[in-house]
Amino acid sequence: MVKYVYDFSEGDKSMKDLLGGKGANLAEMTKLGLPVPPGFTISTEACRAYLREGAVPESLETEVTTALRRVEDQMGRQLGDASDPLLVSVRSGAKFSMPGMMETVLNIGLNDVSVNGLATVSGSERFAWDSYRRLIQMFGKTVLDIDGDLFLNAIDDLKAARGVTADTELTAEDMRELVDIFKGIVKDATGKDFPQDAREQMDLATEAVFRSWNTERARIYRRRERIPHDLGTAVNVCTMVFGNMGEDSGTGVCFTRDPSTGHSGVYGDYLTNAQGEDVVAGIRNTLPLSALGEQNKAVYDELRAIMRKLETHYRDLCDIEFTVERGKLWMLQTRVGKRTAAAAFRVAIQLVDEKLITRDEALSRVTGDQLTQLMFPQFDASAEKELVAKGMAASPGAAVGKIVFDNAQAEAAAAAGVKCVLVRRETNPDDLPGMVVAEGVLTARGGKTSHAAVVARGMGKTCVCGAEALNIDAEAGTVTIGERVLTAADTIAIDGQTGEIFIGEVAVTDSPVTTYLSHGLEAGLAAAGENEGTQELIRAVDQLLSHADKVRRLRVRANADTPEDSRRAIEFGAEGIGLCRTEHMFLGARRPIVERLILSEEGSPERAAAFVELETLQKQDFLEMLEVMDGKAMTVRLIDPPLHEFLPSLSELEVRIAVARATGKAVDPADEEMLVTVRRMHEQNPMLGLRGVRLGIYLPGLFALQMRALCEAAADLVAQGKAPHPEIMVPLVGSIRELQLIREEGEAIIAAVAADKGVDLSGVTIGAMIELPRAAMTAEDLATEADFFSFGTNDLTQTVWGFSRDDVESVFFPRYIESGIFGVSPFESIDVHGVGTVVAEGVRRARSTKPDIKLGVCGEHGGDPLSIHFFHEVGLDYVSCSPFRVPVARLEAGRAAVGLSE
Ligand code: PEP
Ligand code: MG
Repeated sequence: MVKYVYDFSEGDKSMKDLLGGKGANLAEMTKLGLPVPPGFTISTEACRAYLREGAVPESLETEVTTALRRVEDQMGRQLGDASDPLLVSVRSGAKFSMPGMMETVLNIGLNDVSVNGLATVSGSERFAWDSYRRLIQMFGKTVLDIDGDLFLNAIDDLKAARGVTADTELTAEDMRELVDIFKGIVKDATGKDFPQDAREQMDLATEAVFRSWNTERARIYRRRERIPHDLGTAVNVCTMVFGNMGEDSGTGVCFTRDPSTGHSGVYGDYLTNAQGEDVVAGIRNTLPLSALGEQNKAVYDELRAIMRKLETHYRDLCDIEFTVERGKLWMLQTRVGKRTAAAAFRVAIQLVDEKLITRDEALSRVTGDQLTQLMFPQFDASAEKELVAKGMAASPGAAVGKIVFDNAQAEAAAAAGVKCVLVRRETNPDDLPGMVVAEGVLTARGGKTSHAAVVARGMGKTCVCGAEALNIDAEAGTVTIGERVLTAADTIAIDGQTGEIFIGEVAVTDSPVTTYLSHGLEAGLAAAGENEGTQELIRAVDQLLSHADKVRRLRVRANADTPEDSRRAIEFGAEGIGLCRTEHMFLGARRPIVERLILSEEGSPERAAAFVELETLQKQDFLEMLEVMDGKAMTVRLIDPPLHEFLPSLSELEVRIAVARATGKAVDPADEEMLVTVRRMHEQNPMLGLRGVRLGIYLPGLFALQMRALCEAAADLVAQGKAPHPEIMVPLVGSIRELQLIREEGEAIIAAVAADKGVDLSGVTIGAMIELPRAAMTAEDLATEADFFSFGTNDLTQTVWGFSRDDVESVFFPRYIESGIFGVSPFESIDVHGVGTVVAEGVRRARSTKPDIKLGVCGEHGGDPLSIHFFHEVGLDYVSCSPFRVPVARLEAGRAAVGLSE
């Protein structure tokens, strides 16, 4: 038979699945011999059974009786007894904390008779009747579903009648009257009397807690926090203790260490003659915990000893709730305490220094997200801000500047030393110069893997995208948000961590942790200045990151396309480049050359000339990057974007020609010729059109020029005694034949350049990106033609889900997340179940042909903490991510290697 009920003395902290977090920790404290009020936990399994069957299992009722009798025996009192009643609380407690989301009923066991008993034993009529009216109020609202305002209004009416303003001014007689009024409300609303049977109260409250698992707010909360809906909540039935029984009573909350600095000491708040609710509600000003030491030294000392014992036991910072009832200390709750990102690093290393935990454990207690928080400049928390809109938090940081609408304005502002934020409806690769000089980028369209977001993250530039409330008219130079119209004269501030957009200046503070990460310990400590807390933080980050580097199996590379990015990546600890996107090398000033190339005939002298021109420029690009990467691998991806990105916009051309015709002006024949080509090349869905390897095959000579430029650059460096390590990567491969064609061409080029220059280029490898389901599902074939694979999980997510990556995120993903279709965008964190399975299958198939084939990932997921753990598990060799995410990836790869804590 299933066991549903566990006495606090039966469980322990490992049983969170069954007993919930609160129940498991209450059991653990009981096991440690701490003064926990006796009680028992009804398991999550009982909740699941109740929600499934719509009724409590019969055996639960008998188990509850046994457990209750045990508690009664321990206390020497009985539930609802007329002269000295035992009172209990019935509290929810799920595996994961869901603060305020589910129900609690206190003071169960009071009725018309036992209230008198309580008055006698407590020596306070008022206390007893106040407790009783609280029970009817909470029970009425949560168990009987009565509108809570009915009770609140009744209190207000009575206060008005008595001419008082505070609840505390109501007398015992008033409370007695309220009880009558409340009972009337219950009767009116339900047609039944408030239950006088204490056990019935307890059972009904238990069911109400079970049901509260499925309230709308609980469901929404779980969706947001990615807590599964099928866990259910446990119910804790605990003997009531009262902190409001006079001056020798009180209640408080404390931490074993300062949760914001991590330093040990006495941290907490205390309220004399009060109940827990009063502390949480902030009704009265609390006293520092040390005040308890002055009031009752013995209790204070006992609490301090317990705090130490709990910290030793949990080997971590704990937070604790306690109550003092007439000079007797009771522990009501403990858990491993929440903390700031900085404290997480400091506490972890403090505990290592105190030899309380190992370095592996310390690593499992800090996260990449926490490190990210520490890396970015932030808006000064105390600064005043005027929020005007919100978009997607696409690349963290805090940027403030004048509004600019295009590259020219951005560059002019930068030249004049004016900070600016580039505001665009959406961005395309041509906006790169503006993005480089701007403090941040704000777009009205596009999701987190839109061009703006990917590029901004790559550069460590603050970016908020998809802010749909913005109406941007670049021609008119205005941004309209509702009623407001902003122009280039306005300053805006964007927060890349929250997606918030503010008007006006907002003060920003720098991150010394980033200084440490890019320039080393000495520089980081210098940046921390006199601030000891920051110095300690930097030392802690250094120690944990060094340990991660020591234990991790996954190598960490960076996605970088320029010498500057490559340098930055190395500073941040990148061990190579996993993705050099070559397309920007063809845009900007070079675009006219590509235009000529596309417009020329195959085999024509014009095309040959364009190839030569591009090859010379490409070689220079590669020379510079390979030089920076000396000795480290650099994966160069052959050009990928859709062809139309190199041509003028179709609508612009059409408009220009139409306007010329309408105004009787001569139409430029070059425009007409271009229009024919652009129309021919126009694609309905460019993301799935003439891209990647398809372009390489369609436009013979294009990939060849890139491969030759790369080999020649490598050969020149070898001749200079350097150690270039280029890898050629073919994008968007779907069939083995595609790869064969490019590989044959590539091998011939490598051989020819090696012979021509008289150097050994046998180290130049050729691999493919796995970005299409077909590639993953035929990886065992592709592997025969590939030296390595890199999973392009951006496109793989797009193609597995059938989501157009530039279109979906800002349009309907919010609704999808709200509706629980997924907890987070699959472009952000790998969809383990779907896309992840395709990756895992690709790995399996690839290794079935070539057990040692090098496998990596270079989609945005390569820098996402959860995804990194997945890539570790499926056995990839490396992840590649934006330079700024390299430290996070190093840390998470280390954490994946040591395994996570619970
Ligand atoms: C990918 O698809 O995951 C990838 C890295 O390529 P891109 O984002 O350039 O399409
Ligand atoms: Mg791709």
